[in-house]
Formats: sequence, C-alpha cells, structure tokens
Amino acid sequence: MSGSQSALREANRGLIIETVHRHGGLTQVELAGATGLSTATVSTIVKELLAAGVVDTRNTTRSGRRAQMVTIARRVGLAVGIHIGVRQLRVALGDATREVLAEQTLPLPHEHRMDTSLDRAALLVTELLERVGSSVDEVVGVGIALPAPVDAATGMISVRGMMSGWDEIHIGHVLSKRLGCPVFVDNDANLGALAESVRGAARFFRDSVFVRASYGTGAGIVLGSQVHVGFAGTAGEIGHVQVDPDGQMCRCGSRGCRDTVVGAAALTGALRETHGTLTLRDIVQGAIDGDPGCARVIAEAGSSIGVVVAGLVIALNPQVVVVGGELAETGEVLVAPLREAIRQRVLPNQIAPLEVVAAELGEGAEVIGALESVFRSTDFVARSADPLVMARDGEADD
Ligand SMILES: [Zn+2]
Repeated sequence: MSGSQSALREANRGLIIETVHRHGGLTQVELAGATGLSTATVSTIVKELLAAGVVDTRNTTRSGRRAQMVTIARRVGLAVGIHIGVRQLRVALGDATREVLAEQTLPLPHEHRMDTSLDRAALLVTELLERVGSSVDEVVGVGIALPAPVDAATGMISVRGMMSGWDEIHIGHVLSKRLGCPVFVDNDANLGALAESVRGAARFFRDSVFVRASYGTGAGIVLGSQVHVGFAGTAGEIGHVQVDPDGQMCRCGSRGCRDTVVGAAALTGALRETHGTLTLRDIVQGAIDGDPGCARVIAEAGSSIGVVVAGLVIALNPQVVVVGGELAETGEVLVAPLREAIRQRVLPNQIAPLEVVAAELGEGAEVIGALESVFRSTDFVARSADPLVMARDGEADD
C-alpha cells in the first residue's frame, strides 16, 4: 500500500473512532451518513477496528431492518462521574458507549466537610467498581460536579465562602491521589448544561441555557454547542445577582442576592409558621402532592428566578432554556411561572421563539455531565485511539 493511501486509511479510521465516540453508538449506515464515507469503506474499517479490539459490534434493528451497532470497546476503560451536592452525594460509572453501568446516591450532612465527603466519594467509587467486576485500574478519569463556581485551570473553587471548609483545597489533586487517575472538577450547573445539551432537552439546539434551581440557583450556558464557563468559572452564577439592596447577607459576601430570596433557607423559612420545620425535599414533595403552600413558594421562586434568567436570555439569545435541579421535579409548578416571567421581559423574535422546558435527565443530569467531561478528555480519546497502533502494525504485511 502506498504512503498516501495508508495515511488516508488512517485518517478514515480516526474519523470513525471519533464519530462513534461522540455519539456513543451508531449503526454502520449511520456511521456512513455521519462521516461521509461509503458503507463499503465503513464496513472494512469497522472489521479492522473490531479485530484490533477498538470497537465492539452487536446486532440491532433500525426501521425494522437488521443493523449492526458499533460502540467503543469496553476495555478502553471506564469513566466515573461524581456529584457532590449540598445534601447528597451521587456517583455513577459509565463506559464509552455512554451506558451508565452502576449508580448510587448517599445523603450528606448539612455543611458536610471536604475531607469526609471526598472519603465517602472515593469509597463509593471502589464499591461500584467491585459491583461491575472492575477495579480502579480500568478508570480513565473522574469528573466531579460541585455546587460552586470552579476555576477550570486549577480545578479549585474560585469564589470564597461558597462551600464552607472547601476553600483553597485542590479537590482534583486530593481525589486524583486517592484514585490514581486524572480528575476534572466543574460547577454542577455547567455539567448539567453539558448533559442536557448532549443527551437531554437541549440536544437539538446549538445555544441553550440550563437553569439549576436547587438549594441555590445557578445557570450553565451553552453557545455553539460549547459550555461557556467564563474566565474564572463564574459565568451564569445567577443566584448572586442582587435583588434587594437592603436584604440579608449572602455567603458570597454581597447583600440581597437572589439566593437569599429563593434559596433553600428562604423557602423553608417562608413555610415555618404554617408547616413547621421542613426540608427542601419536603417542600418539593409537598408541591408534587398538591399542598397549596408548598406549591405557592415554589411558583414564586419560579417567577423570581425567571426575572434573572430573562437578563441572561437578553444577553445571549439562546434557543431554549432548560430548567433542572430539585425544584424542577415539581414540573410546571416551577416552570410555568418561570417561563411567564421570562416571556414578559424578553424580545419576542420571529426566527426561533424561545422555548422554556423542564430538564429531561432529572436528578442524574450532573453526573451524566461529569461522565461526559471524562469522555471528552484527551486521556479518554487517546486511550481509545491507542489500539490503532496494533492495527497499524498488523497492516505491515499488506
Ligand atoms: Zn451571593
């Protein structure tokens, strides 16, 4: 085979691996469509990659016809997604086919400490790996979602006071030492935005805003299918827009932030007289069960959050606003007033009227985003391409 033919074949292989990677799994016909290669070329390359252990294939059906689904081989490695929330820890294992192999949540105490929470996370990772018959050697990377703005360059929380006791700690280093693999740290709203834009309600849109209405409120911004985090990772921190100059002090050091008005403390406080001491989860469940007081405070939070989101919409002109986080489990109780508050404040356009919808991935969005951040890392992509060296060596006799 001549040098240029061999280079072309290698480029085509790279293209096929990258395409399967991006979609998780595709049939050979879909692969031909997505890459622009002929079905014959796709078939030849898939056979080679299968022999080299780079991809796996299995039978499936498309529009009633038999087809072969191509996925990246499991032995390429596993990804771990961790979401450390305000009151909950969630860990998931996934492979390059984007399948979640195992997942578990644990409650976390109020104001949980960094060292014990990372200990628990590391233990849970080991447990889940055992459950799927794997070990930490197979893990290519770990993605962590945190309820705080994160500086992408260092993986550290970039605003003091956001998670008490977690300042100035190199979270990525601590966990990377424990588990012996690269760790990618990001804000939970950014990772929720990534997940919804790849797999959820924003997947057919290029520009979207993901609103995470939970213990606090944050937003993740996706422009041109890329998450925009800003220089220090604080883009979309809409919970810290000042709405009451005479309001209460916020943990960020400002006064009267949106989070002091619609955060968990404000919502539970509003119901203390009538409902006694409730948790945020109690209020969400109450609203789902039709309790008028619980529904009322969540609807008011929706209106209030919508006012701030309208500012983002004016600035960014997204095609869709996706609403997630614990409060969004109430569906239209939260989303309808939020949508209305935005519609009253933004410019209606004839080209692509803004949609405001509930998230599709539910409470798992952030770990799916954390897994996705690992799949997109250079380590994972490099490891998938590695067996190519074997395939190339085998070609020497051609
Ligand atoms: Zn604040």
